[in-house]
Amino acid sequence: MRYDIPIYIGEDALARLLDYCAAQSIDALTLVADQNTYAALGQVAEHTLRTHGYDVHRILLYGEEIVADERAIVQLLEQMDTQERVFLAVGAGTITDLVRFVSHRARLPFISLPTAPSVDGYTSIGAPLVLDRVKRTLIAQPPRAVFADLPTLCAAPHRLIAAGLGDILGKFTSLADWRLGHLICNEEYDEALAQRARRALDACVQDVAAIGRAEPAAVRRLMEALVESGLCMLEFGKTTLASGAEHHASHFWEMKRLWEGRPSLLHGAKVGVATVLVASLYDQIKQLTRAQVAERMARVAMPERAVEIQIIRQVYGPIAEAIIAEQSTFLDMDATAYAALQQRVLDNWDAVQEIAATVPPAEQIEGMLAAADAPTRPSMLGLSNQEVELAMCCSHYLRNRFTVARLARMLGLL
Ligand SMILES: [Zn+2]
Repeated sequence: MRYDIPIYIGEDALARLLDYCAAQSIDALTLVADQNTYAALGQVAEHTLRTHGYDVHRILLYGEEIVADERAIVQLLEQMDTQERVFLAVGAGTITDLVRFVSHRARLPFISLPTAPSVDGYTSIGAPLVLDRVKRTLIAQPPRAVFADLPTLCAAPHRLIAAGLGDILGKFTSLADWRLGHLICNEEYDEALAQRARRALDACVQDVAAIGRAEPAAVRRLMEALVESGLCMLEFGKTTLASGAEHHASHFWEMKRLWEGRPSLLHGAKVGVATVLVASLYDQIKQLTRAQVAERMARVAMPERAVEIQIIRQVYGPIAEAIIAEQSTFLDMDATAYAALQQRVLDNWDAVQEIAATVPPAEQIEGMLAAADAPTRPSMLGLSNQEVELAMCCSHYLRNRFTVARLARMLGLL
């Protein structure tokens, strides 16, 4: 499905919002914010709309930390009125995802007013929600339009801007994994979209230190890259291009913390540190000749179904059975199919090397994060060595995809 979503990133987002509402004959809105985003932009947005004659119903989400879970969904439903209104999500990822879900189920459209360049999911169709302490992405709807106020984005807390950089740097490895899956397992791929996402990434990483200093031109480039990544996903209809082994590791840490009742970490912060780890796998692959690959694959045993299932049950507790079902093609692979997979890796080793060469060395990615004063190592987020090891060995089970983590396993690098 094609979407035509007007996107504006600049100095006069509220004026553009007014123009849009007038052009679309929108006269009643439900503005959703939390305390912080209301202070950052919501209050001014509400005042501006009211001054221009709009009927605005305000919903403020309350609580220490807003999580996109049942509690927040009920808060939203509880404060809605019965009039047909267009939702206005004033916030970053969490508020946008809550509004995306509730507005969709209420059969009402929504407009996004991002308050931080922290994630690439603003234009997404899926709403990642925590339901019954399990994170699931439910199909909802993209916004009708996005109006990002640049001064508000620049004034966002540094950790949110740093998280946006982490999420965007993750595209180095996710785009490489996307090509790898296509090359080795013929997974669906779109070269034009891959190039679009990569161009946005390259433009944004020209001056990462300026992103760290929240300079408007740099923050604009970051937001443009995040939005472009989101639009590419929307066009492709899947998240594959923007979510590779680095996102699987991040999702894994997030789920584990949820089960253990520990507070969540910013998505982009986790993705950033995971990208450094995944880039180091690509670094190792860059060192291997075809002869070394053949020798390694002859030595590394094929994964055994019973052993794999045991590991999944140990690591994935409450969602183990769903993972086992999702992974049936991988788990049910017989010796002939595995040998054919090995052969494809061997036959395509030059192309694998080309893909690996598109990923900057881990040290360089770490340097980009550090230049923007973003977390570079898992320990900086309170993640233990064991959590890192588990993510590297086992997070590939989360999605039935061929990523560098799976290749590294075939080569005995993990
Ligand atoms: Zn992401």
